[in-house]
Amino acid sequence: MKIFDNLPDWQAFRRTITAQSNIGFVPTMGNLHAGHQRLLERAKHENDICILSIVVNPTQFNDKEDYQRYPRTPEQDRQIAEQAGVDVLLQPTPSALYPDNYHYRLSENQISLAMEGRTRPGHFDGMLTIVLKLLQLLRPNRAYFGEKDYQQLQLVQGLVEAFFLDVKIVACPTVRDDNGLALSSRNNLLTPSQYALAPNFAKLLQSQQTCAAIAEQLTQLGFQVEYIEEHQGRRYGAVTLGKVRLIDNVTI
Ligand code: AMP
Repeated sequence: MKIFDNLPDWQAFRRTITAQSNIGFVPTMGNLHAGHQRLLERAKHENDICILSIVVNPTQFNDKEDYQRYPRTPEQDRQIAEQAGVDVLLQPTPSALYPDNYHYRLSENQISLAMEGRTRPGHFDGMLTIVLKLLQLLRPNRAYFGEKDYQQLQLVQGLVEAFFLDVKIVACPTVRDDNGLALSSRNNLLTPSQYALAPNFAKLLQSQQTCAAIAEQLTQLGFQVEYIEEHQGRRYGAVTLGKVRLIDNVTI
């Protein structure tokens, strides 16, 4: 596995990759788990070159403390990437990705204002900005995104269409723990008692009840509910347990 910590080296290497080789790209913020692994396996299987990026992107965090607390496990990630057969690991510093000194920002004004965007102002603009930067730097044939972050997936599909980007966005199903909890790097921040409670979120989201009834039961169980909403055949939810924020979505 080739590891690039700096962009000029990566860009020089990119120029050596010919159009005959298909590139599959999995962008992440690290602290890799089985959900990320599934994306990597698929990217590896469907392309000649599998590239993983790990960047904890500051512009998509509206809360500084959340950014600082985000789990960072570079050594463990490198091993998982190696095992998954990743060919290239790109892990530049966040500031290297913002040579504009954070003056340019991509913005979307519809999907990004609902749900996650409503409770985390600016989150999706930060996400779209870094995704565009990474797609420009890598020029992959396919890029893999999880349905776990469904709004993000829709926005990235919209980005590709809006800017005529020559990449196929591949949607991958949400990977869950045996207890139903959607895998997330944030699950590692839960205390044992919060972790025991967390699967109720997925269980209730998948139930036949109304959004209001689900929200009420989650509140009674000790969750703080940010939203439970349905749009176009899908139910979305965001809750917090203590300081840890969890999101999930299911088809209905
Ligand atoms: P993150 O590192 O959390 O930014 O996630 C990187 C990519 O992995 C995104 O496309 C996520 O949607 C995807 N992902 C994260 N968790 C899961 C999961 N449990 N199942 C499937 N994809 C996931």
